[in-house]
Formats: sequence, C-alpha cells, structure tokens
Amino acid sequence: MIFGRSKRKPISIPAKDVAQWKYTTCNYCSTGCAIEIGLNESGKIVTSRGHAGADVNRGKLCIKGLLEHELFDSPGRGKFPLMRDKAHLPFQPASWEVALDKTAEKIKEIQAKYGRDSFAIVSTGQLLTEEFYTLGKLVRGQIGTNNYDGNTTLCMASAVSGYKRSFGSDGPPGCYGDFEHTHCLMAFGSNLPEQHPVIYWRLKEALEKRKFPLIVVDPRVTMLAQFADIHLPITPGTDTVLINAMMHVIFKDGLQDDDYIARHTNGIDELRALVADYDPKTAQHICGIDEDRIRTVARIYARAPTAMSIWTMGINQSTHGSDGVVNINNLNLITGNIGIPGGTSLSITGQCNAMGTREWSSCSGLPGYRLLEKQADREHVADFWGIDEAFFPPARGLAQTDIFPAIETGQIKGLWLVATNPMTSMPNQPRIRKAMENLEFLVVQDVYEDVETNKYSHVFLPAAVWAEKEGCHTNTERRVNLTRNVLEPYADSKADFWIFNELSKRFADRNTIHFPATPEGAFEEMKVLSRGAGRTLDISGMSYDRIHAARGIQWPYSEEQARRDEEKIGPAAGFDMHTRQDFLGNPRLYTDGTFQTPDGRAKLIPVRFVNNNECPDAEYPFWLNSGRVVEHFHTRTRTGKIGNCNKFSPTPYMEMNPDAADELGIEHASYVRLVSRRGDAVVMVQLTQRVARDMLFIPFHFHDCVNRLTLGLLDPYSRQPAFKQNAVRVEQIDQREAARLNMERRAF
Ligand code: SF4
Repeated sequence: MIFGRSKRKPISIPAKDVAQWKYTTCNYCSTGCAIEIGLNESGKIVTSRGHAGADVNRGKLCIKGLLEHELFDSPGRGKFPLMRDKAHLPFQPASWEVALDKTAEKIKEIQAKYGRDSFAIVSTGQLLTEEFYTLGKLVRGQIGTNNYDGNTTLCMASAVSGYKRSFGSDGPPGCYGDFEHTHCLMAFGSNLPEQHPVIYWRLKEALEKRKFPLIVVDPRVTMLAQFADIHLPITPGTDTVLINAMMHVIFKDGLQDDDYIARHTNGIDELRALVADYDPKTAQHICGIDEDRIRTVARIYARAPTAMSIWTMGINQSTHGSDGVVNINNLNLITGNIGIPGGTSLSITGQCNAMGTREWSSCSGLPGYRLLEKQADREHVADFWGIDEAFFPPARGLAQTDIFPAIETGQIKGLWLVATNPMTSMPNQPRIRKAMENLEFLVVQDVYEDVETNKYSHVFLPAAVWAEKEGCHTNTERRVNLTRNVLEPYADSKADFWIFNELSKRFADRNTIHFPATPEGAFEEMKVLSRGAGRTLDISGMSYDRIHAARGIQWPYSEEQARRDEEKIGPAAGFDMHTRQDFLGNPRLYTDGTFQTPDGRAKLIPVRFVNNNECPDAEYPFWLNSGRVVEHFHTRTRTGKIGNCNKFSPTPYMEMNPDAADELGIEHASYVRLVSRRGDAVVMVQLTQRVARDMLFIPFHFHDCVNRLTLGLLDPYSRQPAFKQNAVRVEQIDQREAARLNMERRAF
C-alpha cells in the first residue's frame, strides 16, 4: 500500500446547481457584509456567497455568513402562535387573530390596573430598521409605556453615551476605509478576528499594503493581540487610567494639537488639570502597564500623522464604559484625530443592526436621534405622526438592565420580548429567572420557539427570519444596506413588520396613526423625518434601488447630494454596478470640526478613575472575563442550529493558565465548578497561556454558563453591565457528576 501526497484525492466542493442569485445583507454582526443567496431551478436555497462588488466585504464572508442560508429551515423554528394561561402549562396553538387580540388585551388590562408604565418592552439589535421604526411608533405613539428599551444596552450603550457626551450626538465618526490612511491603530478590548472577521480582514489587508503600528489593549492575549506590534495586557476595567496617563505624557511632551483644540473643543484646562494627576509612574500600579510602555505608546500615537482608535465590549461592558469612550474621544480630540482620513474614534458595533435601533427605534427617545426631553423634537414627531405631543413621556424611562429589577419589585407586571433572550444574555441569571417567574404576562416574539426565555411566556409569536423579510440594516460605519425578501416566511411565521402593524390596529383607540403597509413605505417616511439642515443622520437621498445599486450607502446622504450625484452620472445611467462609486454617501462625520453640541464644539471631559469593580480576593481569587468565539453569535439561538458552527464550537469551555491550573491540580479537558457570589457553573478546562495566572475566560454564548456567575454592576451613564469584571473561584469536582450536571442544565 502506498501512502503519500501523490495518492491523496484533492478535496472537492460539489458545484451547487444555482439558477439565480438574490441580494441581501448578513444578519449577524455589525460588519454589514453583502451576501448573495443562490437558489436552484425549483427556487430552493442551496448556497450563499459574499458579494464581490460590495465595498464592505469585497466577496468575503466569515463562517456565520457562509452558512446563514441554512437558517431558513433550521430546527426549533416557530410555526404558528402559541398560547397558555400559566407558564408551566403546555402551549396550545392559536391563530394570529386570537394571539394578537390576547396580547393587546393583556397589555391594556395591565396598564389599566397598574399604570401605563407597568408594561415593559425590550427589543433587539437584529430587526430591520423599518421594523424598529414601526415598533417605536407603536410603543411611543400608541401603547405609551415609557419602559421600552433594546438589548443593545448590553453591548453598545456605553458607546452611544460616550459619543453623546463628547460630540453631542451618537454616530461613529469613521469608517473601515480609515485603515487605509491611518499611521497608528489602537484597539481597546476588541478581538476583531473572532468578533468581526471581515473587518479584521480589511485591517489586515491595509497593514499588508502599508505597515503602521497596531497596538492592542486587552487583558487577554486575543487573536488580535497575537498580531499586534505592542500588546498592553491591562488590568480589567482600568482603561481610563491608561488613557489619562497617555494624555499626561502627550501634554508633558507638548505633542497635543493646540490648533485643533483651540478651534473645535471646550474644556482643555479641566482635562489638563485632571491628567496631571496621572503620571505613568503612579498609573502603572493601577492599570498594570509598565510606565515606559505607557510613554512609548503615547508618543507613537501622538506623533503619528494620523491615528485612530477602535473598541468593542472590552471598553463598553464596564462600570467605566461611558467614561472609557469619552476618554478615547478625549485622546483623539487633543491629537486632532477626528473627522480626517485615518484619524477617528470608531466603536465597532455588536449586532447587525444595533445602529438601526440606535437611530430609529425610539428606545432612548424619538426617531432620528431626537430626544423626548427636547420640546422641538417632541412637537416635530408628534405633528408628523398626527398625535398630541403630551402623549409622549417627559423623559426616557428604564433601560433593559433596570427593567428586570423593576419586575422583581413589582413595578413592572408585564413584558414583551422581541428577538432577545435575557435568560442567557443577562448577567446574574439566577436573579433573572426569579424576575421572569414574577411576571403576570410575558409575550415572546422570536424566530425560534425553543429559545430559553420562551419557557416563561404566555404568548409566543413566531417571527420570520432574515431574508424572509425586506428592509435595511445600518452597519458600524453608518452604511445603510438592504436585505431583499428572498423567500416567504417559514410555515405560519410572520415578518416582525407585519406583527407590529397588526398590533397597531388594536391600539388605534388610543391614537390613530398611519402605519405604511410595506417596509419601503416606512423607509420613505423615515427619509422625510431625517431631512434637515445640519442633521448628521440624514438618509433623505437614499432609496431601496439606490442602496442596492451601491451595495450600501453611508449616512449622511441628503437629497441635495443625491441630486448632485445624479447630475454627475446623467439621468440615463440607472443603478448599474459601474455607477456604484457615485452613491457611497459620506464616509466620515465632523470633517469640518463642527459637532452636534449647542456651540458646535466637542467637549473634553475629565475622567477620574474610581475603582468600583468586583476584584479578586482570597475567597474568589480569579478575574472572570467573557467574550465571543467566531462560530457563534450571541446566545446561539441561530448559530446553535447550524451544523458546522456547532461542530467547530460544540461546548462551553474555560481558558485557564497552566501554572494556575497546576497549583490547583486541575488538568486539561477536565470539568471544574466555578463559583461566584451569584451562583455556580460547570465548565470544561482548556489550558492556555492566552490568559494570565489570575484570569479565566469563558465564551458568553452558552445557556446556563457564564451568566450564572456574572454580577453585572451598571455603568452610571449607559446602564450597561460590567460583564467582564467579576471574581470567581475554581473547584475540582467529580467528572461523571459534572458531565451529568452539565447535560441536565443545558437540556431545555
Ligand atoms: Fe456576517 Fe459579520 Fe461574518 Fe460578515 S463578518 S459574514 S457581517 S457575521
């Protein structure tokens, strides 16, 4: 028998019999990759591929996008509405008419008995923008509860809050194209290769063309840290100290951009005074980064002709999340790195349409970045919808993370969850479970009826998934892209847009508002609302056809700009591929140094560090950190159903340093019990040098795992939980018992 390369058969991927390709946009992360779905002669979906003409991904997709077409007939999908009187009874199938009547009736009953705000609504970052707008209209204009939020509070709220505090408005000011221009990139708590693989590919490509320093700040040696020129393994939750110390060095060395500071900012004296206290010599003992290293990084960043910062959950999921974002903005403002090619503060958003909900869902106010607290905004939206402005609450209500404690105390009696799964995603899971059991009425609207939270519901509304619907997403770089309706909703599930429209009819007795019949109709309405001189969030020049032709357009894109673009290419050019470069919108905000504050200047806000983290101690000696793996998205509601995603990442695990394991007599691939002040979890051990001796890391996707342990202290500005700063201990356990316990806990 002869072995060897010459006798091996090459791997061949069978050609798919594709009769037509349909355009859409990925519905997982915020990168915003354009996808084409391949259908065979009989209209069956057989494959997907990245769209080569889309500027975002240029033909690339990660494993999730490549397999996304398998979602359509994945197991566990909701086929028809379900109802029951009590959460422990079996569900009975119901018609849409009956299920929606029951939902509206119960909302009204609870509001009549306990007050309008006693019914809460929590949505997601994964609907289409037109659906967010329609839900916002239903909630703000008809249902009238003020306790309405999105699960984006768990991931992006600190970025939103930090942008608003520094620049006067939400909206990431940069774009992926900045990688091509920057001379230094600093990544804070952002593991791009696993979280946003295609953005990572864009960065890698830029680095291969033109070398510039990549500095990664992360307590763990993540995949991105392994590719960095400098890795700063920071003590969890102390980023603001590091940045203060960097600014201390910049001011001391006179490396700041005095001209930019004088022309475009307020607050320089206060900032200088505060960072004077953060000498690197002192700061190193708090943030764990050597003083010389702090000086080196500060000088590289400030001396670079342009420099940019990106960040993800490592900054946002902290009690100092909003302050961390403000301090990144401070760093970029004092070095003149805002609104220029290669100079920016770019938050890398989490969910595919977290931006869409920030812009249009009215969760934190009114549509189009308008505020409940601003009289002119209230009147404008009320007039546009044809309702009395007094119907709006005077100020924003509870955030998602405050809604669950309010259920515990009985302030909130009913809840409607839309495409979110708090039983897995919220910190301190034992407490969330008790809160769910307290509810008089719970509606779960989701693609999957086996989602963990549905265990507690009274009504289940089955929603259509991804390209069974039509509408837009906005990605991390403010690019609006289109998901085309590729096939009909599964079984008797319905598009979320349809569900909101049907419910609006049942609340018309409160306020009669016009709800467009199609997502495109809703988009046209949003365009009108977005118009206005000086507004950054202007989408008035976009249309579905134009977005499709351009493979996504970045806002602001005004009617005037659209007219100019049309004149440039001539009216007969249509929307073919060759014209797409003419419809890309605006890649950057604040290019003229004018911000959305009353005087047009950005605010330099001094950030003093107060250590309020739950830190390791003698009883709980390890930091517990959490994050993503590339194969899964959020709580695995969808990726947990995809064969290859599960095959490559089948089970939760815990990264542990081999030296720490040795001290405790713990072996690779054994089970251990983790204990925190909240609860316990059983996890398999993976020994690796990626984590320090006093740190453990667990992927956050799995049910009944890391969030049984997390505390989730809240950021005072954004109300975002500190998922990444918790203290735990590790206990050895009987291996058979552990395997049994694990199976039992995960079986739902
Ligand atoms: Fe989808 Fe994000 Fe992967 Fe692109 S990188 S294919 S948007 S999950």
